[in-house]
Amino acid sequence: MIIAVDGPTASGKGTIAKALAAHFGLPHLDTGLLYRAVGRQVQLNGGDPDDPDAALAACAFPDALLDDDILRSEEVGGFASRVSVHPAVRHALYERQRAFALQEGGAVLDGRDIGTVIAPEAPVKLFVTASVSERARRRWLEMQGRGIDVPLAAIERDIAARDARDMGRKDAPLKPADDALVLDTTHFGREAAIEAAIEAVLAKAGRA
Ligand code: C5P
Repeated sequence: MIIAVDGPTASGKGTIAKALAAHFGLPHLDTGLLYRAVGRQVQLNGGDPDDPDAALAACAFPDALLDDDILRSEEVGGFASRVSVHPAVRHALYERQRAFALQEGGAVLDGRDIGTVIAPEAPVKLFVTASVSERARRRWLEMQGRGIDVPLAAIERDIAARDARDMGRKDAPLKPADDALVLDTTHFGREAAIEAAIEAVLAKAGRA
């Protein structure tokens, strides 16, 4: 069974995807990490993330880069959002994601366009979201936990800008698939959100 989990940054989609993978014993791919690796590689190459040629060249990043903790930084996240606008970059990363989705036994993938582009045939599609202020609060808490002190207002601005770029791009914009179940986690705790996602999968699987 393919489970597609899409949604904006800091919505909880990664946590939910990981929990679903563990619960159903499926492999999990965080596709944002691929775009982050491209963004980081552009930076390492001294290139411009807004230049489609520089971004495409960075798609040849070494696999070891995927394990680098720096990919989790806000700065690299911003670069990822900029390189992900280029259709050539999305095309270059397509096969890898598609092959992961099609592996025998199924898989869980989380990202922005899993249910709409990478695996539109997925029987289970979740679109995980939450208000901008709640997502900013979560990111702020997470950064405080890592000893990084950034004003909440700056995080909120950054998240709003990232949303606008992800939703506004022409190629594979961030939006729920028509048949996705929208899970708004604004007022959900972590465990309640995971429980709701598991129930949604079971309900869909029962119907399939
Ligand atoms: O999910 P994460 O914040 O790690 O993603 C980083 C950036 O990569 C996003 O802001 C988005 O622009 C891009 N992305 C994408 N398509 C995906 C996953 C991530 O465009 N499937």
